[in-house]
Amino acid sequence: MFRRDALDEAQYRMDVRTWLEANLPVALRGRTTRPSPLELMPWYHTLSRKGWIAPHWPRQYGGMGATLNEQIIMAEELARIGAPHLPVQGLNHIGPILMEFGTAAQKAQHLPPIIAGTVIWAQGYSEPGAGSDLASLSTRATLEGDHFVVQGHKIWTTWAHHSDWMFALVRTDPRAQPRQAGISFLLVDLRSPGIRISPIKTIAGDDEFSEVFLDEVIVPAENLVGKLNDGWRIANALLGHERLATSNPQFSLTALERIKTMARASGIIADPAFQDRLAAASINVTALSAMFSHAVELTNHEKSLGPESSVIKIFGSELLQALNDLLIEAAGGHALADRPIATDFGEVDVATPFLQSRRVTIYGGSSEIQRNVLARRVLDLPT
Ligand SMILES: Cc1cc2nc3c(=O)[nH]c(=O)nc-3n(C[C@H](O)[C@H](O)[C@H](O)COP(=O)(O)OP(=O)(O)OC[C@H]3O[C@@H](n4cnc5c(N)ncnc54)[C@H](O)[C@@H]3O)c2cc1C
Repeated sequence: MFRRDALDEAQYRMDVRTWLEANLPVALRGRTTRPSPLELMPWYHTLSRKGWIAPHWPRQYGGMGATLNEQIIMAEELARIGAPHLPVQGLNHIGPILMEFGTAAQKAQHLPPIIAGTVIWAQGYSEPGAGSDLASLSTRATLEGDHFVVQGHKIWTTWAHHSDWMFALVRTDPRAQPRQAGISFLLVDLRSPGIRISPIKTIAGDDEFSEVFLDEVIVPAENLVGKLNDGWRIANALLGHERLATSNPQFSLTALERIKTMARASGIIADPAFQDRLAAASINVTALSAMFSHAVELTNHEKSLGPESSVIKIFGSELLQALNDLLIEAAGGHALADRPIATDFGEVDVATPFLQSRRVTIYGGSSEIQRNVLARRVLDLPT
């Protein structure tokens, strides 16, 4: 922790801790892969009924309207108890975007089901030929009267096979120059005819993402967010939210706790050289919490983040990988096990979080791309 709780915050922390202890099912604690919707969504619904599912959303949209410190306390307490990773595409990505850019009808239709957890969202940005170079995307949407006809192929779409809706970047003007000026932002009902979804297994063994094939899919024109061909601006605003959300210190705090448990169990905790590395890692996690709180504060004032989102994305994701390297060191020879290790302090899964942490420097824009952004937009270097 980089800050001390004021008296009322300490009380709030105890309330959150007590409630989580009483309500988060033990089977969902300390999970290293995201549980299936069947297991996870009841927990989402419990948080929603409590009014805690969206600490950062304003009350008018069903959020908690929590102060910055309350949001940080919530993240720390969720990490402390090992709460599972919720589907965030609705809560952290499209929700805030609709609040900023959506029509009244879009807000009324889509925000309440996100809060209630009755609808799950997916993000349709990447394509087989458009990842880092997202502006080269080729999924085509042609406006025909009161609807678009969408034809194309999305890939790496997190939880698409469990989702009801997908926000997608589509090309609406193939001749526009620069290419970014021909892209629009559409809300696509994944139950529409012409959609086929095919899950992909990751190196950690979970089916986190999918390919989405769109064949002459009809999307009503009112599902356009913002103006026609102005999707790039919205896409970038959303990526700012995404980079911030994926840098939530909750994940690093959980990783730190896992290292400590493993190090106690293996005995390496007594090694002064390991203690030095653990101390350095703890300081970096505290620094991430401080950075995160600064970024959240900026978002509260300015809605969308600028290059700060790249700084925190690089720091948060590379820190998570460094923490998982330290976890391997703490486990020593046991790190070779491809299943959780039984210890005197409970089971510790080492292999899965290590493998899963490979992905964090890729999604939401890779570390290399974030460094390019900073080189161009902050340092004004030639590209
Ligand atoms: C777990 C996970 C979940 C994801 N979820 C989603 C999702 O829900 N929706 C979605 O749309 N996408 C999702 N993605 C896709 C993600 O956004 C892309 O993987 C990412 O943008 C990189 O694109 P790519 O995979 O095509 O790699 P490429 O763009 O082919 O890049 C390959 C490598 O080359 C490097 N590189 C590329 N261009 C440059 C350059 N100009 N300068 C320096 N280096 C460069 C990259 O950094 C990378 O290391 C997810 C990815 C992962 C791993």
